[in-house]
Amino acid sequence: MRHPDWRCQNCGERLYEHVEVGYQCLNCGRRYSIDELEGNAV
Ligand SMILES: [Zn+2]
Repeated sequence: MRHPDWRCQNCGERLYEHVEVGYQCLNCGRRYSIDELEGNAV
């Protein structure tokens, strides 16, 4: 399942899919696993 509206919890920029780690913020470099994002989904 994909959530294009996911945002970085650190800086608020949108997250981009990352091949290895799930999603990553390109602004600050914060990485998010899918499980972590789904657990925090609004
Ligand atoms: Zn960020």
